[in-house]
Amino acid sequence: MTGKETVGFVGLGIMGLPMSLNLLKAGYPLTVYNRTTSKTAEPASKGAAVADSPREVAQRSSVVIVMVSDSPDVEEVVLGENGVIEGIQNDAIVIDMSSIAPSVTRHIGGLLAEKGAHMLDAPVSGSSWAAADGTLSIMVGGEPDVFQRSLPVLQAMGTNIIHIGPGGMGQVCKLVNQVMVAGTLASVCEGLLLGAKAGVDLDKVFQAVTGGAANSWQLENLGSRILQRDFDPGFSVKLMLKDQRLVNQASQEMELPMPVSAVARQFFYLLAQKGLGEEGTQSYIKGLEEMAKVTVQGNQTTML
Ligand code: NAP
Repeated sequence: MTGKETVGFVGLGIMGLPMSLNLLKAGYPLTVYNRTTSKTAEPASKGAAVADSPREVAQRSSVVIVMVSDSPDVEEVVLGENGVIEGIQNDAIVIDMSSIAPSVTRHIGGLLAEKGAHMLDAPVSGSSWAAADGTLSIMVGGEPDVFQRSLPVLQAMGTNIIHIGPGGMGQVCKLVNQVMVAGTLASVCEGLLLGAKAGVDLDKVFQAVTGGAANSWQLENLGSRILQRDFDPGFSVKLMLKDQRLVNQASQEMELPMPVSAVARQFFYLLAQKGLGEEGTQSYIKGLEEMAKVTVQGNQTTML
């Protein structure tokens, strides 16, 4: 047992499921809820209690973690009918680890405070592989004392855990992260495309550039999957599109010129229109391949 908190978890998707399993591994008493109930089977088999609603999760927990998709989804599970706010205990903490709009985080935090509860925004980076390993990077907004109290729980899921600032600033940090992720992925894909069109051995290129100044998480993790033609999602195109919409909203509010982000966002729209929303973001390469009439692959770079 790592701490005295009783933990609740709402949202057992690609990220939430392995994160909840790591909380169980760390010894926390855990109550889980998922809209699609079949996804509660694994945590239940490992000792978690299963609740019928986010409200029931909150009634049983001193720390409630939320890991759903988008701003309206967090509003629904926290503020909606049978939502977390209906069951929240005095002095309990809601940690929203979804990536959503900073303004929505602040709104929800204000309503929870009226109930005597606290809120942290704690979005993550590192993909489903880091969620499984418990090595997520976690960027936290909220009161420093609430952060300190939550730290042992967060340490069950991540290794690089930074208190960024007041409520909403964790989400701002995540926007920064997603600007960099999208721009880097776009460059990785264009570089690989150039190599494929020129007919170079892309496995050798990969080996060479990962050891030099062009290396990146995107190249190592997604470039390698592109070369293996593996498009399963760690992070889906549809969720990346959601994040790029949030980036666009922020850039409009601040009147910030962000030309690379604008192009990347349009490209993710294109992928979603092509029906690739459920695939991993490495499918970015597929849009380029179609325009360039070349397939990017390890060993055998085949022309379309
Ligand atoms: P996902 O696999 O699509 O899972 C989404 C989860 O949210 C599911 O459990 C889903 O329930 C639940 N959900 C969505 N809308 C809901 C609603 N209105 N009411 C109740 N439950 C709802 O997504 P994910 O990849 O785990 O991502 C979760 C969050 O983490 C997102 O904000 C994403 O941007 C962020 N994130 C993801 C990654 C990544 O690599 N995947 C990395 C960093 C951050 P059902 O099972 O019923 O659909």
